[in-house]
Amino acid sequence: MAERDVRVERAQRGEQDDLIEHDEHCSMDPRTMEALGVGLHQQVRITRILPGGAVPGVATVTQARDEERADVVRMGEDGRRRFGTAGVFAARANSVVVRSELTDCEAEQQGEFVERLTDDGAQTVLIVIAPHGGRIEPHTDEQARQVAGHFLPDRVSTWLCRGYGDHSEAWHITSGDLNPISFPLLGQVIGREFRHAVSFHGFTPPDILVGGAAPKALRKEIAAAIRVATAGTDLVVQVAEPGDPIGGGDAANIVNRLTGDGDNGVQIEQTLRARREHGTAIAKAVAEVYLRVLTEAGAAPPK
Ligand SMILES: [Zn+2]
Repeated sequence: MAERDVRVERAQRGEQDDLIEHDEHCSMDPRTMEALGVGLHQQVRITRILPGGAVPGVATVTQARDEERADVVRMGEDGRRRFGTAGVFAARANSVVVRSELTDCEAEQQGEFVERLTDDGAQTVLIVIAPHGGRIEPHTDEQARQVAGHFLPDRVSTWLCRGYGDHSEAWHITSGDLNPISFPLLGQVIGREFRHAVSFHGFTPPDILVGGAAPKALRKEIAAAIRVATAGTDLVVQVAEPGDPIGGGDAANIVNRLTGDGDNGVQIEQTLRARREHGTAIAKAVAEVYLRVLTEAGAAPPK
């Protein structure tokens, strides 16, 4: 583990528009990157130091920028606001992003961030993920576990992160940026080439959006199953179209990267209300579609 005191300063307009447009991105001086052992496009833990405490979070280093002072890290205003201020601030940078040695209970008490993997080390049938569980996108981690509960342990893996605390949004790293070097348990499965991968997320309307790079037929089947599971409610279930900004169809999205040809991930975005009131029913509907698909393919004997 490497750690350095840093100063988080303002992104330079014009030169660093990427940082201004992406609140999770930061630049770092190459000397500090080297001291931390952090490369480009990896995540780094940034902890804002306050007189009475600290605000921890995670950012993705998208630019190595030569600074006069080696300790300068830059973010756009929205990026600094993730740490609770529009101003510049003193912080600590750490190469270790997750504190997975903590139990979930300890993580919640300490406002921390943990990574979890349930995996037999070999199966390649299905992985269910929730990168933004805990308080970041509540109930998504529970849904991932619920889906897995419908399968034999040698037919499913789960990978999830849980983030807690008053600034839990600062733990959010967008699915396209998640780097397996920064998330070591993800690193254990990223090369597995799963047949299927499905991710659970929380977002704003439409109520439920079934995206990902998986064929539209599979996504339509999942959407139809969710519609049945939420019948009698006014929840709107849609299938993402190509190019939808939250459609999860891009190759960089972690749910797609986990599949064999990079084109069989399904990403389920849901409003908080959908998750809170119907999260279990949605998870069950998703599990039943995969059970059917995999049983037909001879890959998932009934539990
Ligand atoms: Zn998410």
